[in-house]
Amino acid sequence: MSLSSPKPVVHVGAAKRLQRRLSRHIGELSNQTPTLDVRLTNNRSTVLLVRREPGCYRLRLHHMFVSASAQVVAALGRYVIHPEAEASATLDAFIAERSVGLAPPRERSQRRPHTVERPDGEHYDLSAIFDELNSGYFGGTIDAKITWGRRKRQSLPARPHKTLTMGSYSVEDRLIRIHPTLDRPDVPRYYLAWIVYHEMLHQKHGIPELGGRRCYHPPSFVAEERLFDEYERAHRWERQHRHRLLLY
Ligand SMILES: [Zn+2]
Repeated sequence: MSLSSPKPVVHVGAAKRLQRRLSRHIGELSNQTPTLDVRLTNNRSTVLLVRREPGCYRLRLHHMFVSASAQVVAALGRYVIHPEAEASATLDAFIAERSVGLAPPRERSQRRPHTVERPDGEHYDLSAIFDELNSGYFGGTIDAKITWGRRKRQSLPARPHKTLTMGSYSVEDRLIRIHPTLDRPDVPRYYLAWIVYHEMLHQKHGIPELGGRRCYHPPSFVAEERLFDEYERAHRWERQHRHRLLLY
């Protein structure tokens, strides 16, 4: 998947400096101060990799970022918090410019071999649900892929989870991911469709800035949620079955 690269021992100082510059931006953008773990690599196939964990952002960055301009570092800060389109475009341009002489850029599908779409589950075919919603509510304008998330091989948790992310939408991959626990015959189709509908709205509405803050569910988004035919029914089902879903 990736070329082997020498350990960037020499660049510990550079990584620390970059980490400080980034921390400033991230601190200004979010009201928390998450831990930031920056590692520099020579890895040509993973120029930029961000793992977002609770209270912590882990970054693997190509050395090219050491000499990035203030504008690029600011875009990186925004991208780390959320991969929105404008920051992505700035970073893409920077990476393209600095990649001259590096290995030729590969297609996205080749660069991310781990993202294999699997819309056809054991009980539900997400493609069918997506297509119905797309023509029924969006006039076929939503351009996204959809997949079941990967099932983790683990025994049942001792205690129920506190939260469960039913679905997510990745702006950079235009990919909707649905939690595999919903692929069960006792989960009604209208509830699953509701979760997919919500993620599709994320593509339509983007992440506008309201009062200086990024808003993931702006008023227009919330208003359009209510247009879902089985809005009340889906919410009722979730309230009644929440405890069971958290025991996946
Ligand atoms: Zn959402």
